[in-house]
Amino acid sequence: MRRKDKKVWIKDMAAQRMVRLFDLADESFDEDPGLSKRYVFLARRIGMRHRVRMPSHLKRRICKCCGAYLIHGASCRVRVRSGRVVTTCMECGHSKRIPYHTAGSNTLD
Ligand SMILES: [Zn+2]
Repeated sequence: MRRKDKKVWIKDMAAQRMVRLFDLADESFDEDPGLSKRYVFLARRIGMRHRVRMPSHLKRRICKCCGAYLIHGASCRVRVRSGRVVTTCMECGHSKRIPYHTAGSNTLD
């Protein structure tokens, strides 16, 4: 295996491990939310160690403040407020605001 191929392989493996750890966090949440928090922490650390960007749909499932694994309706509250999706962590109360665009909002008039 060439050096460059090995680098690609390592990054690919890291990305797969991150996804796997999120699956495990999802499975273990009902029994032990603390364990799913740990899985998510490990996924984040793998991403940082190998400089692999976390996909945005997974990134939205972690509280940036306390690191909790966020499940809609269980560990976080999701509301739509003035053009933003507001996700509030039920563990620490930290909220994340993600703007969304309505149809026609980008047109010039
Ligand atoms: Zn939190």
